[in-house]
Amino acid sequence: MKLKSYVCGEWREGAGEGEALLNPATEEILAHASADGIDRKKALDFARAEGGPALRALSFKQRGELIQNTAALLQKHRDELIGLAMTNGGNTRSDAKFDVDGAVATLQAFAEAGAALGDRRLLVDGEAIQLGRAPRLVGQHVLTTRHGVAVHVNAFNFPAWGLAEKAAVALLAGMPVLTKPATSSALVAHRLFELLEAARIWPAGALSLLMGRAGDLTEHLEGQDCLAFTGGATTAMLLRNTPGVVARGTRINVEADSLNAAVLGPDVTPDSETYDFFLKDVLRDMTQKAGQKCTAIRRILVPEGLSERFRDDLADRLEAVVVGNPATEGVRMGPLATAAQKTSVLEGLSLLARDGRLVHSRPGLQPKGVPDGRGFFVSPTLLEVEPGADAPSVHSHEVFGPAATIVPYDGSSAQAGELVSRGAGGLVSSVYSEDFPFVSEVTLGLAPFHGRLFLGSAKIAEVSPGPGTVLPQLVHGGPGRAGNGEELGGERGLAFYMQRTAIEGSRPVIERFLKQGGH
Ligand code: NAP
Repeated sequence: MKLKSYVCGEWREGAGEGEALLNPATEEILAHASADGIDRKKALDFARAEGGPALRALSFKQRGELIQNTAALLQKHRDELIGLAMTNGGNTRSDAKFDVDGAVATLQAFAEAGAALGDRRLLVDGEAIQLGRAPRLVGQHVLTTRHGVAVHVNAFNFPAWGLAEKAAVALLAGMPVLTKPATSSALVAHRLFELLEAARIWPAGALSLLMGRAGDLTEHLEGQDCLAFTGGATTAMLLRNTPGVVARGTRINVEADSLNAAVLGPDVTPDSETYDFFLKDVLRDMTQKAGQKCTAIRRILVPEGLSERFRDDLADRLEAVVVGNPATEGVRMGPLATAAQKTSVLEGLSLLARDGRLVHSRPGLQPKGVPDGRGFFVSPTLLEVEPGADAPSVHSHEVFGPAATIVPYDGSSAQAGELVSRGAGGLVSSVYSEDFPFVSEVTLGLAPFHGRLFLGSAKIAEVSPGPGTVLPQLVHGGPGRAGNGEELGGERGLAFYMQRTAIEGSRPVIERFLKQGGH
């Protein structure tokens, strides 16, 4: 099968054989994708000219209804999409459900946001501000939809959720979307577009798909366009420095690497519910999607006196994780997504091992249900550093796989804050403790370095999805190393796709404008 792009309102096949998309458990070729010869400039022009005006003519409520129809379509084809994510992504059924259900839930959340915003087409930011002594001169901030195209470049790990979370926000804001999934796991995105095209939910030009390498895509971006990227820091740097993006001032949002930390408070004892909660969350993050989750816990801060006990408890649980082909009964962790991912994870692990020691891994692992020597498997791997060690790689190198490092600390909020902040900006970190002053100090210390903080306590253990789950209502992104981006966050996310403008004038004119201008 050769996957096509959906641009200029039709399916177009790229030239040549293109890249092979594999089943990472068996290395069987599933399809090829090529975007060679696809005219990216024309695709962007079409989205701007056709999709933009059609979407801007709709109110938030109407766009919300289309997003709701999209959620219903995904839900209807849930099993098929889950199957594709398993085959092409190396996901266990549970991993694949996390991706597809995450996409549906995010679409639903933004459909609801659209309904709540109602029959208007601009957002009013705050109250009118009196500008002089006379009350008749006022200023009012408003947000209106940008007239460009939203280009979304996604990572391989969440082909459904990653696409949906970006698209939902841009479409609700009224911008057409051109999405470029990571090539290696693009079967899900391709099928999703086939379903969307057949269902004719969206106006022509509202949604385009580039199936294959980006090529010169970003060179054609303009000043009203938005580029939202998720992926590695090196690619992010390239995109930020694309001459067209720099020269024309394209708006860019980056979601990149992150060395997320989880801190166990000094008050927590091994017989407590909070300890179990912590252990469970760390285990889930190390093994779910084989650790290929941008929000996964990479650094585990444990009070020095408890590190030996914690290390043994976690190693026991990791040993019990059945690794293999997700199609095989009983498998709890699949392979990495690509051969390149496996090489990068193994290289990263050697780097981390220089900082400390290996506590748990399974050399010579025989993955269940996999032909001999096949598949991109790495066993769950736990490392540990000495208390007080510099461990430069542990705090600066993200291993995007089933790996984490125990970092013992002295139990003080000051040292916890200092160690976590060495990660130089992260998506999410967490603190598990019932000691309010400790939690409060750590929260204050860590907040400037993160887009989200998770406060784990026994009270929420039963109802919490853990720190690794990105939620549509809350912002996702982080400063520094994490890309300095911000996505989602309910209505907050719309601002990226809209222009904030201060309007100065007489109060009656401004009030009338807000009434008639689509408010
Ligand atoms: P990647 O190699 O940077 O690729 C990400 C996307 O960028 C893919 O769609 C890729 O397309 C595309 N790309 C590569 N080179 C490009 C170029 N020169 N111009 C335009 N697009 C280009 O990252 P990855 O390996 O897919 O993902 C792993 C990384 O993503 C990890 O470091 C992880 O931390 C990060 N990540 C972050 C988040 C977050 O929310 N912060 C979420 C998930 C992953 P091709 O596939 O066609 O090469």
